[in-house]
Amino acid sequence: MNLKRLYIHTIGCQMNVYDSEQIAMQLAAIGYEQTATLDDADLIIVNTCTVRAKAEQKAFSFLGRLAKIKRYKKRLIIGVGGCVAQQEGQRILERMPAIDLVFGTQAIERLPHLIQQIESRHCRIVDVDMAERPDIPDSVVGQQEPVQVAKFVTIMRGCDNYCAYCVVPFVRGRETSRQPESIIREIKALVAKGVKEVTLLGQNVNSYGKNQNLCSFAELLAMINEVEGLVRIRFTTSHPKDLGTDLISGFKDIIKLCSHIHLPVQSGSNRILKRMNRNYTREQYLDKVSELRDTCPQIAITSDIIVGFPGETETDFDQTLQLVETVEFDGLFAFQYSDRPPAPAVKLPDKISTSIISNRLQVILAYQDQLTRSKNQQMVGSTQQVLTDGLSKKEAAGGPAGGDPSLQWTGRTSTNKIVNFYVVASTANSLNLTGKMVAVHIDEGHSHSLSGRAVNLEPSLRGLKGVENYAA
Ligand code: SAH
Ligand code: SF4
Repeated sequence: MNLKRLYIHTIGCQMNVYDSEQIAMQLAAIGYEQTATLDDADLIIVNTCTVRAKAEQKAFSFLGRLAKIKRYKKRLIIGVGGCVAQQEGQRILERMPAIDLVFGTQAIERLPHLIQQIESRHCRIVDVDMAERPDIPDSVVGQQEPVQVAKFVTIMRGCDNYCAYCVVPFVRGRETSRQPESIIREIKALVAKGVKEVTLLGQNVNSYGKNQNLCSFAELLAMINEVEGLVRIRFTTSHPKDLGTDLISGFKDIIKLCSHIHLPVQSGSNRILKRMNRNYTREQYLDKVSELRDTCPQIAITSDIIVGFPGETETDFDQTLQLVETVEFDGLFAFQYSDRPPAPAVKLPDKISTSIISNRLQVILAYQDQLTRSKNQQMVGSTQQVLTDGLSKKEAAGGPAGGDPSLQWTGRTSTNKIVNFYVVASTANSLNLTGKMVAVHIDEGHSHSLSGRAVNLEPSLRGLKGVENYAA
């Protein structure tokens, strides 16, 4: 088999990151090796996102760049996958003659066959078939990819919630859960390769298994907790309307479950929440936040907000701002509302002007920025358990001021805060901390991260599951 090179460009959410890995592994079976250099590629796959207008524009501008490359590299194959592909289908081929393949969100398993057809027949193909409730096939766990400490694992596909602004149910199809055995098999295979942490992915993990009579999400977490060698479990995303007591108790009872929840609120105004079809009120949301904090006092809570949903008045926006101030999120993603046909909000009257939307966005982001920074600064002086992902990008920039230059490592706390740290020891540079749990003394809090130095584990922390000590 001739070795061919594959370049994948991924836009969008974690689910797309996971899908891109599956694409790479599917195509490895027909001789494609991944390259990080665009110019080396025989096949380029663009995995697209359509959740907001900006993401879609990014996809088309990248595809425009590829069309130019194809002018002097005629044998290059270009494929477009993901949510834009699902939505636009044939129209992409009509609009862009350079594209050879458009494949939808449920076509990844068919990719090897599709690409082989294009290689042998030089044809152009659209495959955007969607089954009503498709079986989710076993994922492929690759042999050759470098081991990473933390990996995503998709446990569900699609969404049945139909929030008024959202295109996901239309491009990802009906909600379907993977069989628990298949998920556990994948996680065990990942752990066998050295993975220590998994993030379980679904649009609304709380409804895992419900319409197929599988186990509940909390039960799934309890099963995953038993996987030997796995150190941490995370998940995203949780819908506030379905967040139940069993899952909230999990933050206390499921030992490997990290102390972080991403709980998108979208708006703090009941009027807007209703128009968004979110099915909870601000009071119910705030009750869930209190319950989470009562159960797990150290829990970090992050959220998503949409600013400028049709009909959002100053009063509605103030209520959102008040909610943000009340909850004191650990992190916040705020987005400008964008029309995403065929999402029903497209037809709502009272669209908000872009200048008002961007002003509101600035206000909310400025508030959250100072809050995140001050929360990070409050952690200075504490010791945090950090699961090390590897050497930090800034490693090359040198070590701590005033000390011996030593290697900079990076990892995350259970609360999902990024920590860059160094090790003070004569043998520090020969240590490999990748995948190790390290106790780090926090020296500084920044806007997006913390920094500090590794310390000996305190006696009270020794012997914790998954924690490894070393002499500093
Ligand atoms: N299933 C997840 C969200 C998936 S989309 C959930 O329910 O939370 C990720 C985020 O994109 C959403 O939380 C929302 O804040 C944002 N988003 C989705 N559609 C949008 C739109 N039309 N305009 C602006 N932001 C949008
Ligand atoms: Fe979109 Fe709502 Fe489903 Fe999230 S829950 S994917 S926002 S429809």
